[in-house]
Amino acid sequence: MSPDRSVDLALVLDLALDVELDERDDLDALLDKAARTGVLPKGAAGARDRFEIKSRAVDARRGRVRLHYVLGQRESAAAQVAPRQVAGLPVIIVGAGPAGLFCAYELARAGVAAIVLDRGKQVQARRRDLKGLTQHGIVDPDSNYCFGEGGAGTYSDGKLYTRSHKRGDVRDVIEILVEHGAPPEILVDARPHIGSNRLPKVVTALREHLAQVGVPVHFGARVTELVRDAKGHAIGVRTAAGEEFVGRAVVVASGHSATDMLEVQARAGARLEAKPFAMGVRIEHPQAMIDRIQYGKHAGHPKLRAAPYRVAYTPADGRGAYSFCMCPGGWIVPAATEAGGLVVNGMSLSRRDSPYANSGLVVAVELADLERLGLTAQLGPMAGVELQRRLERAGFAAGGGGLRAPATRATDFVQGRGSSTVPASSYEPGLVAADLGAVLDTTALPLAARLREALVVFDRQLRGYASENAVLIGVESRTSSPVRVPRDASSLQSPTLPGLYPCGEGAGYAGGIVSAAMDGMRVARAVVAAGSRAGEAA
Ligand SMILES: Cc1cc2nc3c(=O)[nH]c(=O)nc-3n(C[C@H](O)[C@H](O)[C@H](O)COP(=O)(O)OP(=O)(O)OC[C@H]3O[C@@H](n4cnc5c(N)ncnc54)[C@H](O)[C@@H]3O)c2cc1C
Repeated sequence: MSPDRSVDLALVLDLALDVELDERDDLDALLDKAARTGVLPKGAAGARDRFEIKSRAVDARRGRVRLHYVLGQRESAAAQVAPRQVAGLPVIIVGAGPAGLFCAYELARAGVAAIVLDRGKQVQARRRDLKGLTQHGIVDPDSNYCFGEGGAGTYSDGKLYTRSHKRGDVRDVIEILVEHGAPPEILVDARPHIGSNRLPKVVTALREHLAQVGVPVHFGARVTELVRDAKGHAIGVRTAAGEEFVGRAVVVASGHSATDMLEVQARAGARLEAKPFAMGVRIEHPQAMIDRIQYGKHAGHPKLRAAPYRVAYTPADGRGAYSFCMCPGGWIVPAATEAGGLVVNGMSLSRRDSPYANSGLVVAVELADLERLGLTAQLGPMAGVELQRRLERAGFAAGGGGLRAPATRATDFVQGRGSSTVPASSYEPGLVAADLGAVLDTTALPLAARLREALVVFDRQLRGYASENAVLIGVESRTSSPVRVPRDASSLQSPTLPGLYPCGEGAGYAGGIVSAAMDGMRVARAVVAAGSRAGEAA
């Protein structure tokens, strides 16, 4: 009997293997090393063609940097369920972000028709409006970094990691993205990332695929009203242009910046509730500095990309600060959706080769904070939206208009004062040296104080993090939706407005591209299940 058969390969689980940066790391070399070091069971050495690389991660700790691989049994690619020609009464989907598009895609896999409506424009036309935003400070309330084809995910950092543990569902989303033109590396990278130069093509391919099976996506279609049937069920929508789209149910996947859409749902009878969120600033460093901190003497090694980081500080009272949506080699962009407000966020290209690293640095805002400020009594579930707006207006005023952003060096911020000069930045509309602490204090919440305390701790964790070359840029107010649109746990419909399926980040069920896409697919399955139940009952 050949020694290779003496091992039941089915019993060989994933093989974890670390390699030094200068070692070869193609599959052959990895299997050689696995055999040499005994990680690969002896008898399995001849069955090399049955293995593949499952994941690749960079493990950087205290200046020692290694690549961490997991090898595993090659799986015959499970055939993806393809969308098929759709038929029947359509589901009306508001929003062509990840949640709306993946909802339509999953419905099409079941052959269920949908019409997708988005207030924004297709990716190419949208790009021109983004230019207007960054170069001239003009905010188009329907076409910006948050609104338009692909939603807030299109011109973003495009990182695809999620805290979700539903591995099968995450894999499904990533595979669909690869099928529509995303780079296959995202199937194995532990921190998958696409980048804003590639995302628009992926989003377009997804929309074209939907069109082929009979699912249209209408742009320039801002929904202003929900349509209900005689039983009071949501069955359709009206747009600002007066067009009506009616079908079997309505999925609202309008994202965390469409506060007008929250009011539309409330007017039709949906219950809303306030939820905790977070606000703060963006911090920017030279990427070379972050690389040195994270990679030590290995910084600049060709196998290493721009280094990410993550920081978090939780003091005894539980109210600390944490980094959010860190963008290595990225740009800070103006993500406002309303004139007179300033919001910053981060994006990057696939190469992540800008000389800057930026990250949100935010502090949690709890429901008790909104109550203490009297906002809950005044505005009910929209209290958090008002707080976001106040901060955004204060940021806009401190920047002096034109979407210039107020900025303070980390060293000055920690000392509780403004800066008179600020370093060069990736933020194209420009920075204004200011006192960002005072801007944060306009909320009457101790956001600045919390950030100050946290920065001192972060500087100890990552030496130089709060140094002269680090600049805080305001304001980061839209980390997640401050409002939830509750839904029934099993039907996923609004308990007070049957037929309405609140979906994605804007409804409070996702935080990021992948989780929004997964929520869209989950909602689609709930709509299909409701349809089958109705069919059985008939
Ligand atoms: C600059 C930036 C960078 C980001 N980087 C990342 C990242 O790297 N990784 C990550 O996971 N997440 C990132 N995010 C967050 C991520 O984009 C969102 O979590 C995700 O897009 C949410 O998906 P969604 O489909 O729920 O909503 P959205 O993507 O917000 O989509 C909502 C859509 O609804 C449309 N809409 C709104 N109101 C109406 C209306 N009344 N009528 C018709 N249409 C309407 C909008 O035009 C929009 O297209 C980033 C966000 C921004 C702004």
